[in-house]
Amino acid sequence: MSNNLSNRINNLPVSATLAMAAKARELKENGVDIIGLSLGEPDFNTPDFIKNAAIEAINENYNSYSPVDGYVDLKQSICNKFKRDNELDYKSDQIVVSTGAKQSIANVVQVLVNPGEDVLLVAPYWVSYSAIVTLAEGNPIEIRSDISTDFKITPQQLENSITNKTKLIIINSPNNPSGSVYSESEYVALAKVLENYPDIYILSDEIYEHINYGVAHFSFAKIPSMYDRTITVNGLAKAFAMTGWRIGYIGAPSWIAKACTKMQGQITSGTNCIAQRAAIAALDASVDKIQYMIEEFRSRRTLIIKMLNEIEGFSLNKPKGAFYVFPDISYFIGKTLKGKKINNSSDFAIYLLENAHVATVSGDAFGAPNNIRISYAASKENIVRAIQRIKEAVS
Ligand code: GLU
Repeated sequence: MSNNLSNRINNLPVSATLAMAAKARELKENGVDIIGLSLGEPDFNTPDFIKNAAIEAINENYNSYSPVDGYVDLKQSICNKFKRDNELDYKSDQIVVSTGAKQSIANVVQVLVNPGEDVLLVAPYWVSYSAIVTLAEGNPIEIRSDISTDFKITPQQLENSITNKTKLIIINSPNNPSGSVYSESEYVALAKVLENYPDIYILSDEIYEHINYGVAHFSFAKIPSMYDRTITVNGLAKAFAMTGWRIGYIGAPSWIAKACTKMQGQITSGTNCIAQRAAIAALDASVDKIQYMIEEFRSRRTLIIKMLNEIEGFSLNKPKGAFYVFPDISYFIGKTLKGKKINNSSDFAIYLLENAHVATVSGDAFGAPNNIRISYAASKENIVRAIQRIKEAVS
């Protein structure tokens, strides 16, 4: 009956990250010892002080619809967070809380992009950006980068990609999947180009802000000439180990925030009230409280880089943030491994799943067909087992 479905859904690709995670889960349920390194999901428990805030909220009978754009006191905590961590001044009417940063991004794209307008995506980019743009009937336009520039684009590349149809650019630092982090001066150089195009908006996805191993995080909206046309997206999932709680938010010009609230009011309403109460505890706490997770990710990063560098055919940059490595595996493309011809990075990811029983994600979905993404948000024991298995499977 799928021909009765809309073209919209028939043409929509499935999320590659979620599809791989589902496939790994299914194989596991069938008794296969799969090591899942596909999903960007911290393997820590949500810290107790956040869980306790949720339990209190249940006991205090938080059970009614919440305001569509989020509780007033949560929005104030978000304003305080933006000031404390990013030196950004947002007022309450510039904040919208959503069901995960994914919904925050979808809201922004829906309210800004008209059919036929271009949205620039800096490749490699997170898999859902292009699908979200396509759903809004916009054109996702890739600006490519690769390992030779540490997966970053130059101002000239940005300039060359802009046309009179360009409406929005989505930037993401620390980056999923490459782990690259733009410095303040690199962002200022990109902003210089955008200053000549006042009709282009910027969505800055900063969800990995705290998963950062050295280069100071810099918010694009901090550049004075960009503040009025930048939408800063963030959320609780990654830094606070709260992926399933689904809390994302934006800081944006108030007219954009208002439009996102209108959009959300017709689709999901206010996000889960218990998760919102817990989010206040998370955001009000000192960032020191989550540092133990960042330190553990840092040491896993060292481990996985060292192990992957010992495998012939894997070439990788040193990620400065997030919890992924994104090796270039073009060495294997065109080769035959155990009788199977590897034509692209999807073939390679499937090969690893079937022969090493390790779930990764193919770079195709991120706009980088020579790479695969491996998440190190997993225990060291699993990282060691997984990379040993990969080594054996490709040797
Ligand atoms: N953002 C995470 C990832 O890239 C979670 C899965 C998803 O929503 O794509 O793995």
